[in-house]
Amino acid sequence: MYDIKALYEAASVAEAIRLLQEHPRAQIIAGGSDVLVQIREGRRAGAELVSIYGIDALRGVTFDGEGAIRIGSLTSFSHIAASPIIREKIGVLGEAVSLVGGPQIRNIGTIGGNTCNGVTSADSASTLLAWDAVVELTGPEGIRRLPIRDFYIRAGVVDLRSAELQTAIIIPKAAYEGYFGHYIKYAMREAMDIATLGCSVNVALSDDRKTIRDARIAYGVAGPVPMRAPSAEAAAVGRPVCADTVAAFARAVLSDIHPRDSWRAARAFREHIAVELARRALTKSIELAGGALDG
Ligand SMILES: Cc1cc2nc3c(=O)[nH]c(=O)nc-3n(C[C@H](O)[C@H](O)[C@H](O)COP(=O)(O)OP(=O)(O)OC[C@H]3O[C@@H](n4cnc5c(N)ncnc54)[C@H](O)[C@@H]3O)c2cc1C
Repeated sequence: MYDIKALYEAASVAEAIRLLQEHPRAQIIAGGSDVLVQIREGRRAGAELVSIYGIDALRGVTFDGEGAIRIGSLTSFSHIAASPIIREKIGVLGEAVSLVGGPQIRNIGTIGGNTCNGVTSADSASTLLAWDAVVELTGPEGIRRLPIRDFYIRAGVVDLRSAELQTAIIIPKAAYEGYFGHYIKYAMREAMDIATLGCSVNVALSDDRKTIRDARIAYGVAGPVPMRAPSAEAAAVGRPVCADTVAAFARAVLSDIHPRDSWRAARAFREHIAVELARRALTKSIELAGGALDG
C-alpha cells in the first residue's frame, strides 16, 4: 500500500543533515500528513524518507532572549493552538491552525510541513506572512534565516537547499507587539476542507486608537503562493480608523492578488471574496485593537 524503499530516522538535526547528505534522493518526512497521502496515491513510488519526527528539540513554542516567539518546526497544530505564548501574543495563529483538517490532522500535522510543502492554501502560511515571520533553515553550511515571504519561490517550491531542513519559525517582537489580528478561512465546508481563500490581517493603532499605525494583510489561494497585498496595506497606513479607510483597504487588494479559476471557485468569485474578507478581517482586527469604526 505504501511503496517506501527506505526510511531513515534521525534523532538530531545534525543526524538529519548527515542522512540527507548520504541519501540525496531522500525526502524529509515530519508528521507525514502530506507525504504519506502522496505515497499512497503513487505519486512518490519507491520513496526514500528521512524522518525528523523523533527530533524533540524541534518541538515547542518559546521566547528567545529578545522576546521573539520561536516555534519549532515539528510543533503540531494542536500544540500551537494550546500554547499560552501563542494565545497571549499572536492568538490569530492558534485560531488559523485550529481550522486545519480535523483533530487527527491537527495532532500529527506540523507547522514545518505546512510551510515547507509550498502550498498556497496552507492555513498557517498567510497568517505567518501577516506576522512578518522569519524562517530558520539548518543545513551543512549552518543556519540561515529569511523572511517567510522570500521562502516561497513558486507553487509547491520553497527555498530549501540540499540537505537543509527547516528548524523553526520566528516571529520577531517588533512584528507582534501592539498588533492585533484576525484570520478568515473561506471554504466550501465548515471542517475538513482546504481553503477556497484564506485572509489574515494584523493591525496596530495609534495610542488614541483613531489612526491606523500599521496594517498587514496576507492571502492564501490568491496566487500560486501565499502572498501579501501591499497596495491594500499602503491604503490603510496612517489613515483614520473609519469605514472609508476599511473600504479603500479592501478595494485595493484587487491591485495585488491574482487568483485563478479552479474547480473549487472561479477567479471572479475569489476576487469578490477577497475584498469582502479583507473588509471583515480588518474590521475585526480594529475591534480587537480597541478601535471603533463609528468614531
Ligand atoms: C485529511 C487532510 C486534511 C487536511 N486539511 C488541511 C487544512 O484544512 N489546511 C491545511 O493547511 N492543510 C491541511 N492538510 C494538509 C497537511 O495536514 C498539512 O500540510 C501539514 O501541516 C503537513 O505537515 P506534516 O508534518 O504532516 O508534513 P509532512 O507530510 O511530513 O511533509 C510535508 C512536506 O514538507 C516537507 N517537510 C516537513 N517538515 C519539514 C522540515 N522541518 N524541513 C523541511 N521540509 C519539511 C516534507 O518533505 C514534505 O515535502 C490536510 C491533510 C489531510 C490528509
